[in-house]
Amino acid sequence: MPLRWTVNEFRGTPLRESDIPEGRVLSVRWDPNARYAWDAGIAIGRFLQGLKEGRILGVHCPSCRRTVVPPRIVCENCFRPLTQWVPLQDTGTVQTVSVCYVNWDASRRREPEFPAVIALDGASPGCGILHILGEVTPQTVRVGLRVRALWKPPQERTGAITDICYFRPL
Ligand SMILES: [Zn+2]
Repeated sequence: MPLRWTVNEFRGTPLRESDIPEGRVLSVRWDPNARYAWDAGIAIGRFLQGLKEGRILGVHCPSCRRTVVPPRIVCENCFRPLTQWVPLQDTGTVQTVSVCYVNWDASRRREPEFPAVIALDGASPGCGILHILGEVTPQTVRVGLRVRALWKPPQERTGAITDICYFRPL
């Protein structure tokens, strides 16, 4: 004879929020020690080390003769390995810019921020780095503006893109 159950025989017991802290159900608390390290990789690692030393490094491709920044280990145009490091100027030209009144968390800014792509002098056309502009206003900022990096003092640099405070008009 087959066994038959009804839903009412296996209704289960609903949990209340208080059952866990009051110990009526088995629970385990575990705080994982989830520390980790991140490797920037060969090209960006050297780029960041250059920033710590106050230099902006690009790489030159001997095949298509472009000098690109941020650096990479393979040319995306001709797939050649890129090993020829080139110091670039810390001056450049604003390629694109936004006048931004919204923070990363979507809150409103009182004063705008100016994220921009800057074509660095010494890099090939179309190669720019993303940073922010300073000492500009919505009225004075524009594509084509000539700018220079404002560096943190050497003792405050950490090997990060923020070793450059911002780019400001020349
Ligand atoms: Zn190339």
